[in-house]
Amino acid sequence: MKIHEYQARNLFRKYGIPVPDAVVCHSVEEVEKNVPDDGKLKVVKAQVHAGGRGKAGGVKLARTKAEVVENARQILGMDIKGLTVEKVMVADAVNIEKEFYVGLVNDRNSKSVTLMASAEGGVEIEEVAKVSPEKIIKLAIDPLLGLMDFQARAVALQLFGEIMQALAAAAIIKKLYKLYIDTDASLAEINPLVLTPEKEVWAIDGKMNFDDNALFRQPEILKMREVSANEQKEIDANEKGLSYIKLDGNIGCMVNGAGLAMTTMDMIKLYGGEPANFLDIGGSSNPKKVIEAMEILLSDKNVTAVMINIFGGITRCDDVARGLIAALGQIKTEIPIVVRLSGTNAKEGLELLKSTGLPTVNTMREAAQKAIELSKKSKV
Ligand code: GDP
Ligand code: MN
Repeated sequence: MKIHEYQARNLFRKYGIPVPDAVVCHSVEEVEKNVPDDGKLKVVKAQVHAGGRGKAGGVKLARTKAEVVENARQILGMDIKGLTVEKVMVADAVNIEKEFYVGLVNDRNSKSVTLMASAEGGVEIEEVAKVSPEKIIKLAIDPLLGLMDFQARAVALQLFGEIMQALAAAAIIKKLYKLYIDTDASLAEINPLVLTPEKEVWAIDGKMNFDDNALFRQPEILKMREVSANEQKEIDANEKGLSYIKLDGNIGCMVNGAGLAMTTMDMIKLYGGEPANFLDIGGSSNPKKVIEAMEILLSDKNVTAVMINIFGGITRCDDVARGLIAALGQIKTEIPIVVRLSGTNAKEGLELLKSTGLPTVNTMREAAQKAIELSKKSKV
């Protein structure tokens, strides 16, 4: 689960990490009413679940209240990475001498929470990792000992060099770690952590993600949840017994079994296509589930072809075929659908599907190739 920057900053503040004061506004009127006209330099920031807002024009400094209002007018309603900006945060701005990066992630390789820090802050860390990975300090944290004081100091000293600044940064890193553990986070980033000309250290951006599987014991975090339309679709699908994850491609996939679903996406990629989703309908051939899965797939406007990939084990392919025929009787669509059935009763299943006129194939390979070919023709 993701939260907005202003929510992360509220958590930071609760844990004693220094963040500038800010107000959140949903409209220009709210900005006019709620932002104090105190003559301080302000920064107006888009609140969306995406990074790189600065580059996209969603972070703007303002010297006067009039400028704050004007910036908010421009940023509200703006589109950043496909997300519409519905609120802005207006924060007291700080002067920046240098920008740093500090973050915590769950690292599967070291099987531990890993502290990452870099003197190349402000830019996206993925970019630093690609171009100059040696500029990122990494420290795997022992889950039993936690982050030790000396470790936090050692890392901070590598970034700041100067002892008083390093101590300030080390304290921030320790607090961030405590926050991370307490809230079952999966990511906590301060980018940038800044040094001001007055040699103060401030967190001026915050990003946090949380482990969905721990939300049941994190009621305070769960309260902050704001669900996007896509996420809502994933949650609805889950309630219907389907595992659905939306992706950015155009080939809709309907598959039984998570492993086969992963393989299907790989196969589409291998032949130069892009999967529109991960969708596991589970071990059931219930037509209702097939209908629901089809509805989810077809509601994605990017989908230009559908690949149905079923391996019959306990699930019988003829049952699935009946489910599909029932589903397609209810859902009318122009989008081409390729069906691959293999395994138990595949022959019977394919025979049944002949009446639908759907292209059927025996192998996953053919299905992926056919779906990609049809997707190119069908510009729906
Ligand atoms: P992001 O682009 O989504 O990561 O948004 P950030 O909050 O990190 O802002 C992007 C950049 O805007 C920062 O790296 C800074 O260079 C600049 N910026 C943000 N807040 C301030 C501020 O208070 N003062 C100054 N001078 N620059 C800021
Ligand atoms: Mn940032």
